Amino acid sequence: MQKITFSWKKTPCQVCKGSFVQNETTEKVTYKDRVYSVCCVTCRSRFQENPEKYVKG
Ligand SMILES: [Zn+2]
Repeated sequence: MQKITFSWKKTPCQVCKGSFVQNETTEKVTYKDRVYSVCCVTCRSRFQENPEKYVKG
């Protein structure tokens, strides 16, 4: 039997560079077949407005 472990790893937000705990309600955006995690809907819309700005460095 396998143990199920929950990891409360902090994930960096792709947009504001803040870190947040990722869970099932985490906002995500898909861009060019890659999935990026963002901390909130505001960051998600910012990402969608200008994805190239956030996927590079
Ligand atoms: Zn953010």
